[in-house]
Amino acid sequence: MEYELTIQQTPTRKEKPDYNDLSFGKHFTDHMFVMDYNEENGWFDARIIPYEPLLMDPSSLVFHYGQAVFEGMKAYNSNDEVLLFRPEKNFNRLNISNERMNIPAVDPDFLVESLKKLIHIDRDWIPTSEGQSLYIRPFIIATEPALSVKPSANYKLMIILSPVGAYYSNSDQMSPVSIYVEDEYVRSVKGGVGFTKTAGNYAASLKAQTKASELGYDQVLWLDAIEKKYIEEVGSMNIFFKVNGEIITPALNGSILDGITRDSVIELLRYWGYNVQERRVSMDEIEQAYRDGILEEVFGTGTAAVISPVGTLQWKDEELVVNHNETGDVSLALYETISGIQTGEKEDNLGWTVPLEMKQS
Ligand SMILES: *Cc1c(COP(=O)(O)O)cnc(C)c1O
Repeated sequence: MEYELTIQQTPTRKEKPDYNDLSFGKHFTDHMFVMDYNEENGWFDARIIPYEPLLMDPSSLVFHYGQAVFEGMKAYNSNDEVLLFRPEKNFNRLNISNERMNIPAVDPDFLVESLKKLIHIDRDWIPTSEGQSLYIRPFIIATEPALSVKPSANYKLMIILSPVGAYYSNSDQMSPVSIYVEDEYVRSVKGGVGFTKTAGNYAASLKAQTKASELGYDQVLWLDAIEKKYIEEVGSMNIFFKVNGEIITPALNGSILDGITRDSVIELLRYWGYNVQERRVSMDEIEQAYRDGILEEVFGTGTAAVISPVGTLQWKDEELVVNHNETGDVSLALYETISGIQTGEKEDNLGWTVPLEMKQS
């Protein structure tokens, strides 16, 4: 399928925000990518246009029944180029979400190429300080004006860009997070939509996050919805445990999101010679490892933080303190290696980065 991309640049560029004080997802660049879908044309009218609000019919299906999917990825300013990190994986995953949510598939290669053009046009928005990046949010919404419950006949795909600050100012400031193991609310169940990045998953998670925050914890650890026994993931990150020198992470079972950072961490750890087990892991097993003194590290993985060390796990009436509430060696090495590859400071032995190939103006 051949698509055309039209480009309409804004005559008036916005003023940049204070790059020393960038909060997540608050500022957006001058342009956005848009593409529409209807039954007659399929995906059509791909365009880069000035960033602007949408005009939508109040009956648009997305507002009522939540048929919406999204992705999250980043572009990094390297020494003499701009790098994307495994971008084809994000658009392939978008299609996995699309398939489950009854949204027509997109062309991942075309979207990667369009994304590169969009970033190139807004390249003066990419932050250059250590740890900062350009956050990329592709998403699709159901736009047919109709109140009947059915798959929409029309969709809009958009990509917006947001300069974001460093998650950690440097690696010795990776402060471990405290986790509340949630045994009342659940995130997802096999057969449901937990493996997709669909809007409703996040709406459904807010209550538990609020509860954890009120109790003084940073994030929620989700257990399986049926037995509330097996570990799934943490907040919007996948989770890993280092037990007696080996690495364990919950297997992708249909209710867990297939994180690209998770995949990269597994690949890198195996490249380093670690035994990585993707399998079912229960909270009882982790508690036992803790009692036996062999629970060495716990960390979350996701695009935002790359690696987020876990310092404490609150479960039932007990607080498990991991590695004296300090960042472990494996967590630190993973963080430094992956973020080093993302920014071009470390050699990309695994072929993960994709350059924009256009530093000329
Ligand atoms: C996005 C997401 C992750 C992390 O995925 P990455 O591709 O590594 O950013 C993990 N869990 C959930 C629920 C997510 O939405």
